[in-house]
Amino acid sequence: MPWMQGYPFYLVMGSVLSLYMGIGSYKHRHTPGRCYLWILMLLVSMIFAATAGEILPGSFEAKLWWKNVQQGPLFLSAIFTYAVIKEYVSRSSEGLSKRLIYFCIPVAVDVLLIFTDSYHHLMRSEVGLATVAGVTGIALKPTVLSMIFIAYDQLFGLYAVYLLAISLLNGPKYYFRHNALLLFSLLVPVLSVFLLPLLQITITGFTAFTYLPPIVAAYLTLFRDPRLSLYPLAKNKIFENMKDGIVLTDRYDYIMDVNEAADAMLSELLEEKPETWMGASIQPLLRQHGQLSACYAERREGQFEIEPPGRSGSCYGVALIAIEQVRAKGTGMLLVFSDLSEKKRVERELLHQATVDDLTGLYNRRHFMRLVQNYSAQMGAGMALLLFDIDDFKLINDTYGHMAGDQALVDLSGKIMQVYHNQGIAGRVGGEEFAVCFFAGSEAEALEEAESFRTAMSEHIVELDGGHHIQLTVSIGIAFTDQADVTFEDLYREADEALYLSKATGKNRVTLGREPLVRQAAKG
Ligand code: GH3
Ligand code: MG
Ligand code: MG
Repeated sequence: MPWMQGYPFYLVMGSVLSLYMGIGSYKHRHTPGRCYLWILMLLVSMIFAATAGEILPGSFEAKLWWKNVQQGPLFLSAIFTYAVIKEYVSRSSEGLSKRLIYFCIPVAVDVLLIFTDSYHHLMRSEVGLATVAGVTGIALKPTVLSMIFIAYDQLFGLYAVYLLAISLLNGPKYYFRHNALLLFSLLVPVLSVFLLPLLQITITGFTAFTYLPPIVAAYLTLFRDPRLSLYPLAKNKIFENMKDGIVLTDRYDYIMDVNEAADAMLSELLEEKPETWMGASIQPLLRQHGQLSACYAERREGQFEIEPPGRSGSCYGVALIAIEQVRAKGTGMLLVFSDLSEKKRVERELLHQATVDDLTGLYNRRHFMRLVQNYSAQMGAGMALLLFDIDDFKLINDTYGHMAGDQALVDLSGKIMQVYHNQGIAGRVGGEEFAVCFFAGSEAEALEEAESFRTAMSEHIVELDGGHHIQLTVSIGIAFTDQADVTFEDLYREADEALYLSKATGKNRVTLGREPLVRQAAKG
């Protein structure tokens, strides 16, 4: 096999590669798991180098010395694999370094016994040379004591696999791929301890190669993937289960991370439902909301309210937070979406309750007054205020009952809304007293309008439960002004006095109020 001639050099390459990744990881050792990953990579690099050392020299002593040198990093690599995974999974290194020291004591004993084995033969029952496929290395038969040390060491590898498998099952689904990659690559050295003898692979230094998949996968997972630089697993659970939507974008405006809540919110806001929004651009959302977009572009912090297209009634609050990406030398953004739909609905309901009369659906007295005051202030001239009171309403209550009276009020209010839908403001200002404010070109026009309203009311047939049909009349007082300095209070008082006169002079009639005092003074 001519390719086997280069075997020691493949090992050297493996050593250099592990060293390179180790140094690369060291620069970023602040992320959980990375500090131990750095050590693990150096250990693997040492395993490769020592294995090359076992093959290259011709003498048995030199080969054996290098074989012994391999054992330390080989044993420690299982322990540090555990350390990497432990910290990666639990996101905490509390007490771990101390525990590692204790875990390493048996390794130190093991290495000491191996180096001194030629005196006591506690670790190896036979030591010799073996050539497989042109590669000559040391062949040994381990003793039971040696096997116990190996088993002890392998427990760490198995435990690391277990920890990773648990986190794979319980972790958020977005990280499934990373964890799965790590898990399967980690299985290579752990299982190879059992599989290599079974498969009868006896090539010297093959064990070193089994460590390449996990360190490459760990390097890619913990170090190269920028997504992982921001999440600890425990926090991630909170992140995943939060009601608020969290979206993290990179400096190119691509979504680097998104929780489930945000996935659903983005789908509603953009009317699109991809499997995940991760990797998509945030620009389509920004294009729909100018102010949000401007703030985002400047990488400023800010709070906005945005609504999905259509009339869904949903409303979202968006908080923008700038995130410095140290490694990528750019600024990403964190967008926190909160669902304000319910809050808005309650606000709308409270506003409705505060402004609209329950029974009739017309504006209540307070809101009517407020609206008309603004109305008069804006328009000033040519405004008519019509007040009316239903005639003999007590009789309706007494004859048909209070419920029927209510029904009559609702029916009449519907009629008022129909007449003044587009041309005025109508409100219920008392029990069976109503007011309408509208624009009129002149006093005569206002009077004419009031008269036609009175006629319309008296002709309107109110249908009550029980098949009763009744007709109601109203007494109206109307006040008009085309002067800017007449206040609403003046106008209201005039209309009220006029209404009183309508009642006093026979009901079912319209009375025009006296000219408000200001107007009289201006004329006089
Ligand atoms: P008038 O022609 O002088 O106005 O006689 P009236 O019977 O209408 O007398 P008045 O305006 O003083 O009394 C109003 C009555 O309207 C008294 C009250 O029982 C009734 N009323 C007020 N609010 C309601 C209501 O919300 N529902 C019902 N069913 N009746 C109401
Ligand atoms: Mg009345
Ligand atoms: Mg009344």
